[in-house]
Amino acid sequence: MIDAVAGLYAGTEPMPFQAVSPPIFQTSLFTFSSYEEMAGAFAGRSKRYIYSRGDNPTVEELERLIAALEGTEAARGFSSGTAAIAAAVFPFVEAGDRIVSVHNVYNDAYRLFEKILRKFGVQIDYVDGTDTEAVLAALPGAKIVYLESPASFTFTVQDIAAIGAAARRHGVISVIDNSWATPLFQKPVAHGIDLVVHAASKYLGGHSDTVAGLIAGPKDLIGRINSESYHYLGGKLSPFEAWLILRGMRTLPLRLARHMENGLELAEKLDAHPHVTKVRHPAFQPHPGNATFTGYGGLFAFDVADDVDVPAFVNALNHIRIGVSWGGPESLVVPALAALQLPREANSFHRFNVSPKTIRFSAGLEDARLLWADLEQALGKARTVSKSTEAA
Ligand SMILES: *Cc1c(COP(=O)(O)O)cnc(C)c1O
Repeated sequence: MIDAVAGLYAGTEPMPFQAVSPPIFQTSLFTFSSYEEMAGAFAGRSKRYIYSRGDNPTVEELERLIAALEGTEAARGFSSGTAAIAAAVFPFVEAGDRIVSVHNVYNDAYRLFEKILRKFGVQIDYVDGTDTEAVLAALPGAKIVYLESPASFTFTVQDIAAIGAAARRHGVISVIDNSWATPLFQKPVAHGIDLVVHAASKYLGGHSDTVAGLIAGPKDLIGRINSESYHYLGGKLSPFEAWLILRGMRTLPLRLARHMENGLELAEKLDAHPHVTKVRHPAFQPHPGNATFTGYGGLFAFDVADDVDVPAFVNALNHIRIGVSWGGPESLVVPALAALQLPREANSFHRFNVSPKTIRFSAGLEDARLLWADLEQALGKARTVSKSTEAA
């Protein structure tokens, strides 16, 4: 697995001075030596760099790497995962068209669909992604099927091979958010998915120091994206941030192995804890869709028992920090109650398949014993607090 990244990383372009780390082409434009050279470039007669909202060599280095890792032809870099999601969807829909999306996609993907796409007359139908028959039944006539396996907060998976094959039969473009598994643990294109989007802000970057996005896919679809949403929505990736992602990816296999190990160990311990009622992790939720994973991300969620006070639990954590995002070295929690801002009635949580007692946990790179000790003491304290409140 290490070779999968290191080999591709080192092999793409010979570096100036045999440098092992690529240069950062921190430039907005590339000049021409003559009228003819400029005219030729604009007429498409010569492929060369013009302006960094289009192509930039540092960003291209990252695009080549992600395309190779995802086992596909091409890729484009974006200023955020959300910019990548928007750019992957926009070229393929117009007013009157329909998108099929699974439930519990990343919150801001959902808001993009609801707040922007609906305004332009695009209909979005949400289906239970765990119910493959329901997804397939919704496909005829749709333009896009939007997947995220596992989904946010619920960590429920989809049978992407079955959905990808059916989407091809119906002429529906399939798009998946593969940020959680990364191409090291799931290669959606090999299972028939058309476009793969990434929040490179998470595992690919891996150091909580940049926000970036990527789309990988076949040349024809990336070409459409390139000639529509990439250039004219303008959400391009900056050379320095592309470089940070490239640097982060050099240790991706090592980091992911540790995230996975920590995630599984803590999920197991939480599952056995008397005050935890549910663990939301693909390994703990059997489904045919698990077959496409060759490993697991370290991000999952768990539900605490009714008598565990969520704010008290979160406040009792000493080492584990409270924060959104994930995929960096530090372990983090996000309580659904605070972050999802769902209406308080129980049924709204039910609609989103999460509970007010759901806590998302991003397993970082720390020693698992330290993390478990922190979770265990906080669970103990949060329960004591709620008990003493009852007594008072
Ligand atoms: C964070 C995240 C995104 C969005 O990425 P940004 O870079 O924050 O825009 C998309 N999908 C998933 C699963 C995420 O966790």
